[in-house]
Amino acid sequence: MAKAEEGLWYQCQRCTNCCQWEGDVVLEEGEVEVIADYLGIPLYEFVKDYTRLRENRLGLSLIDKSGTTECIMLDGRNCRLQEVKPVQCAGFPNRWNFPNWREVCEATPIVCEPEV
Ligand code: SF4
Ligand code: SF4
Repeated sequence: MAKAEEGLWYQCQRCTNCCQWEGDVVLEEGEVEVIADYLGIPLYEFVKDYTRLRENRLGLSLIDKSGTTECIMLDGRNCRLQEVKPVQCAGFPNRWNFPNWREVCEATPIVCEPEV
């Protein structure tokens, strides 16, 4: 996975495209507990109602809304998990991205001052 260009930070414009792509919204170890706690529901209930096995069966993913590829946690243009969103979500597009990602992501570049 590529990283964004050196010296630029891409500011999310909340277009929600990345919340509507097909594929896993990976939940890393420890995130399930944090998110269940944030939602104020028991862990088993969160796992039962909001997650599924990842395609590689090596962990959990959030589910999509029924009949769509839209993440179950997307509420209009907002993420219900904004304060505890999965690392995969928080890292895109600056910590990871893919070829031609700018064609599908509306984040705008901001020039960062070099660290001294
Ligand atoms: S958890 Fe939030 S940021 Fe991540 S895909 Fe779902 S709605 Fe989008
Ligand atoms: S696709 Fe890019 S601009 Fe749109 S919500 Fe995701 S990170 Fe933000």
